[in-house]
Amino acid sequence: MGVLAFQEIETKTPIDDDPVVRRQVQCVADSLLNRLGGNADSSAWEVVVFKQDQANAFALPGKKIGVYTGLLKITENQDQLAAVIGHEVAHVIARHANERVSTNYLAQSGAQLIAAMAGGSTTTRNNVMAMLGVGAQVGILLPFGRAQESEADLIGLDLMAKAGFDPRQSVRLWQNMSAAGGRRPPEFLSTHPASATRIRQLQERMPQAMELYEQAGSAGRRPRCW
Ligand SMILES: [Zn+2]
Repeated sequence: MGVLAFQEIETKTPIDDDPVVRRQVQCVADSLLNRLGGNADSSAWEVVVFKQDQANAFALPGKKIGVYTGLLKITENQDQLAAVIGHEVAHVIARHANERVSTNYLAQSGAQLIAAMAGGSTTTRNNVMAMLGVGAQVGILLPFGRAQESEADLIGLDLMAKAGFDPRQSVRLWQNMSAAGGRRPPEFLSTHPASATRIRQLQERMPQAMELYEQAGSAGRRPRCW
């Protein structure tokens, strides 16, 4: 279903074919995905840069990552982009979308849902997309719960640190997002409020993340994506 949702977005959104931008985003994503551990294979993930002004990104079960060019105007450096992608990938590896779809479609089998999605039932397709975490793309805002957000924040923070990205930049990113509020807030904020609680939890975890970051440095992991 993640793959179908991704295809749906791909048919509706222009893709950025600037090789420099693509290489930079791919580099950040690969650096993170390589630290997932287990038998995770970073090359199994597909990363697409969409040419659209919204400041947003997403990751889907089925190993798909989408980054919108609008996000690259808000992130000040590779580490801040890593914070966003790391957070989104964390939702996938913690199976948050899977939980939400299963809870809401208990009575239907996966095969039935896939058939409904592929068979042109717009309502089902849009609802499933919202549950998978890409509702903004079909006009349905369905943020994950606070517990899932906290979990994704902490997994994402560890992941970026292990990959050799400066974890302190995560806090800076949320502060910038929040400051960019105003008349046209970044789309990412619509499902990810940059609350004081969120920033405090990240700061509480920072000593541990800094240790991972130092270890990554000693192991020669300091990505230079741009
Ligand atoms: Zn989230």
